[in-house]
Amino acid sequence: MSFEIKDKDLLARIGKLKTKSGTVETPLLFPVINPNIQLVPPQKLEDTFGFKAVITNAYILKRCFENEPLAQGVHKFLGFDGTVMTDSGAYQILVYGNVEVSQAEIVQYQEQIGSDIATILDIPTGWKVTKDQATKTVTETIQRAKDFFKIKTRKDILWVGPVQGGRHLDLVAKSADEMSKLPFQVHALGSPTEVMENYRFDVLVDMILTAKKNLPPERPLHLFGAGHPFMFSLAVALGCDFFDSAAYALYARENRYMIENGTYRLSELDYFPCQCPKCASESPKEVLAKTPKEREKFLAEHNLHVCTAELKRIKQAIRDGRLWEHVEMRTHAHPALFTALKKLKNHEDVIGKYSPTSKKSGIFIFSSVSLARPEVSHYRKRLLKRYCPPENARVLLLAPQTRKKPFHKAHEFNRIKQVTKRLGEELSRNVHVCFYAAPFGVTPLELDEVYPLSQHEIALPLDQETVKYVANQVSEYIMQAHYETVVLLHDPEQWGKTIKAQCAKSCQKKNIACEVVDIKAKGSKNILTRLEMILRKHLSE
Ligand SMILES: [Zn+2]
Repeated sequence: MSFEIKDKDLLARIGKLKTKSGTVETPLLFPVINPNIQLVPPQKLEDTFGFKAVITNAYILKRCFENEPLAQGVHKFLGFDGTVMTDSGAYQILVYGNVEVSQAEIVQYQEQIGSDIATILDIPTGWKVTKDQATKTVTETIQRAKDFFKIKTRKDILWVGPVQGGRHLDLVAKSADEMSKLPFQVHALGSPTEVMENYRFDVLVDMILTAKKNLPPERPLHLFGAGHPFMFSLAVALGCDFFDSAAYALYARENRYMIENGTYRLSELDYFPCQCPKCASESPKEVLAKTPKEREKFLAEHNLHVCTAELKRIKQAIRDGRLWEHVEMRTHAHPALFTALKKLKNHEDVIGKYSPTSKKSGIFIFSSVSLARPEVSHYRKRLLKRYCPPENARVLLLAPQTRKKPFHKAHEFNRIKQVTKRLGEELSRNVHVCFYAAPFGVTPLELDEVYPLSQHEIALPLDQETVKYVANQVSEYIMQAHYETVVLLHDPEQWGKTIKAQCAKSCQKKNIACEVVDIKAKGSKNILTRLEMILRKHLSE
């Protein structure tokens, strides 16, 4: 199999996957084809909407049509010459409790109809199940996965190894770990549909990232049943490469009109908030007057346009290194989605491990939620583990962030320059100037042009959590460095008392001197003189 990764941002990848019916680009959405009722003909999905892949259910094909797909092959039967993925009936097990087909039969059937990507008959865990029940589904799915490799005969099909375990994360980890030992080409996170139906996107975050942590990164991951565009970007950012959507059609049947950050009932709309070819030419009133069948078709096509447009935006955001900003914007669509975004701070390790941290563009920080960004945690780790202050640094002079960046080019920095000039070359060599700044914390002067310390914009005033984060980071830095004195230029307007308090506390713990100069006090000349006096005092000791 070849899955070639072209671009990355967070855990998202733009990749090329070769299947026997052609190469597809990820992140990839597979519209679900229901062979019994298909509103939009499969070939139209490709020609009009640009879908290079579709998914259908091999179990339904076998049960309802048995021989026709066998004789024609699934591509001809559906009338689609792109990539066809098939599901095995696992979802039907979840809904109906069982299916009248064995794994050997459904594997053989998928091989015979010529699926490009096919799925073993796993046992879905579901949502409201006990740990015991969940364990059984995981054990049985792993056993079936092992058995599968003794049954399969074709080598040109990409097989999906589903990860089960539901919300029991230790089971998800075990399932992913076992599946990763088997030579599957693709993995899938099994049946998260109920999690999504219950709007537990926070649980979904845990499930996806636990699976990702334990799966080989070079294999694509499919998220079953993730059909609404408002959560595509979150799932893509967490490393899901494939999605399937039946939602475009199911919503259409219920007169529901998708937009990228929510859903309307058609009857609620006076205007279409969309300029797709469908919406551009008609009004909600005109669509409401159509026959039910025509209306359903209109809505299904509009919903597909919305899904493809969102995927294009996501891909462009990956290219631009701006996926976090995109996800942050989208997760404002619903508090449950935003809750999920807030959960990311618990997964710093796996996000940090796979995310690129250097980009061609600067980053935008809106609130403390952005503290979970890999750029922020990456910098903190590097500063604490790898950075050594200049050897002769005896005094740490901590200055507040300036609006202009890099900090050393801001006019506020001139005052510090004046003081160091007055001290003379020899003495000032013992003063190490660092800035304290949100969100990165301590920024040594000599590093302030290193990406992304100057290449970011942050919304002001800072929120309490961000101030606290910076204060903690300042404290960690003081604790592990070897200064004799810390001089804090205190900016109470921006930072309140938090930085000052943390500085004093850590200096006390280290038993070193701590001096505070309030830069908002009256008389800037006096401030400079005071600062000079303090520095001279400590440098002469
Ligand atoms: Zn539209």
